[in-house]
Amino acid sequence: MIHYSCDRCRRMIDPAKEIRYVVRIDAQAALDPLPNDELDDDRDELLEIDEMLQSLALEDEDSLLDDAPQQLRFDLCSECYRKFLQDPLGVESALIVGFSSN
Ligand SMILES: [Zn+2]
Repeated sequence: MIHYSCDRCRRMIDPAKEIRYVVRIDAQAALDPLPNDELDDDRDELLEIDEMLQSLALEDEDSLLDDAPQQLRFDLCSECYRKFLQDPLGVESALIVGFSSN
């Protein structure tokens, strides 16, 4: 039998006694398409693409990894699920940590 534990409070979740909540987060860089207004000049589009690829190749590999889409999945107990919904970005706890470190 598969046992789940809450990813927030580490408590074991017994599916026979309580509801297990799953939170999935897809995080990725938002690459909005560039406006097409400047494409009708005389510049060679292939040359532009080539330059773009070269500049991409020069990027630090670490930053490319940071920009890779992230798929996060958390198992939460009912209590932590409620708290997650109240503060999904952890703003409240981040503020508390900031205050206590002073
Ligand atoms: Zn929990």
